[in-house]
Amino acid sequence: MENAPLNAVEIGATAFAFFTRNQRQWHSKPLTTENIDGFKRNCEDHGFSPEYILPHDSYLINLGHPEPEKRQKSFNAFLDEMQRCEQLGLKLLNFHPGSHLNQISEEECLTNIANSLNHALEMTNGVTAVIENTAGQGTNLGFRFEHLAEIIDQVEDKSRVGVCIDTCHTFVAGYDFRMEMDYMLMMQRFDHIVGLQYLRGMHLNDAKKPFGSRVDRHESLGKGHIGLDAFRLIMSDERLNGIPLILETPNPDTWPEEIRLLKSFGMKSSP
Ligand SMILES: [Zn+2]
Repeated sequence: MENAPLNAVEIGATAFAFFTRNQRQWHSKPLTTENIDGFKRNCEDHGFSPEYILPHDSYLINLGHPEPEKRQKSFNAFLDEMQRCEQLGLKLLNFHPGSHLNQISEEECLTNIANSLNHALEMTNGVTAVIENTAGQGTNLGFRFEHLAEIIDQVEDKSRVGVCIDTCHTFVAGYDFRMEMDYMLMMQRFDHIVGLQYLRGMHLNDAKKPFGSRVDRHESLGKGHIGLDAFRLIMSDERLNGIPLILETPNPDTWPEEIRLLKSFGMKSSP
């Protein structure tokens, strides 16, 4: 974990994501002082401030789980991740909202998620819970901007809740932004429904599956159904300055090249 900043430097990244624990297991050892000090030192040495570090929570967590016992298990794991972020001096934790599993209504599931967040925020300090929009695969909620808005609406401490837009998820969930006009409209809709002030990060991924398919398969930039033009628009949008833009594309070998390409898009608009 403490090597995450070093790995980021190696590929030319100026922001990064990582897991604070094994993302596919319920239990993991607490962070040691070596972990914490090493991580903080490496971030400092390479100029990564907490605003540009967007850790991702475990894939097992479902804060909207219909069954109280399983929801509690998810809550405990989520709280542990928030506390790990606190220990590491981080400010953001990215998570997938949750799934209703066809056992409860969308509304109940969104309320479960908001309640879980309220408890976790009460028990921690300084860390913002960043809800990621989803592809809408299976029974996952968060694929409509209204879902994100509904969760935020029910969160008491609005200063510590945010949103991360994943481009692949947005596209397969049925929001087009491949052309400039559509991009502008999509951002306008997001601003109107959720509010741009809540946008705390983005995941930049092309989509392996077609528009509106609601299937979550990331693709390397320019190799999927979204195409490079959309990423050109994103990189030249000054409203997105100051938030971490994170690649989650499937081929690590092309990350340095993808980062160079994105940064070249950004340079054209802001000298
Ligand atoms: Zn993502």
